[in-house]
Amino acid sequence: MPTTTRVAIIGAGPAGLLLSHLLAEAGMESIVIDQRTREEIESTIRAGILEQGTVEVLDGLGDFSRARTVGHRHDGIELRFDGAGHRIDFAHLVDRSVWLYPQHEALKDLIAARLAGGQDLRFGVTAVRVEGAESDRCGRA
Ligand SMILES: Cc1cc2nc3c(=O)[nH]c(=O)nc-3n(C[C@H](O)[C@H](O)[C@H](O)COP(=O)(O)OP(=O)(O)OC[C@H]3O[C@@H](n4cnc5c(N)ncnc54)[C@H](O)[C@@H]3O)c2cc1C
Repeated sequence: MPTTTRVAIIGAGPAGLLLSHLLAEAGMESIVIDQRTREEIESTIRAGILEQGTVEVLDGLGDFSRARTVGHRHDGIELRFDGAGHRIDFAHLVDRSVWLYPQHEALKDLIAARLAGGQDLRFGVTAVRVEGAESDRCGRA
């Protein structure tokens, strides 16, 4: 059964989910598909650090992100060489921080928020080709 949509997003990773959120904020509907199951996506360990800009973008989309409450803010790192520690003080140097918050936890937040917002989000669906990319109409998802 063909489905039409304004925007078809392939991949429910950080990029696809954030894009669907930003589109919804702009009043544009989309469908997100991912070949993996929700359980796989929410349990695959990958990235662990969110930069300040990312945390601020998530803040601007509502209060669903747990990065600030569950994550840990780091104001710098320490590099050890020549027998000594050398602190790189992010906060002092550039007035920025990073948050230790696992990617799969950020994805849990985004998925829950998108589903709560009525997002058409389909797991276990593989995109096999893109049709009509040059036309002004979206192909099938
Ligand atoms: C071990 C590891 C550690 C990392 N550490 C960090 C870190 O500390 N900080 C950091 O910023 N980044 C880190 N990264 C990078 C970060 O994980 C990626 O930049 C991020 O996942 C990219 O997001 P994405 O949404 O573009 O792609 P992905 O997360 O790869 O999502 C793409 C999605 O598309 C789906 N998909 C692909 N093809 C199809 C298809 N044909 N049909 C349907 N679905 C499809 C996939 O199943 C996947 O879920 C790390 C990555 C790895 C692997």
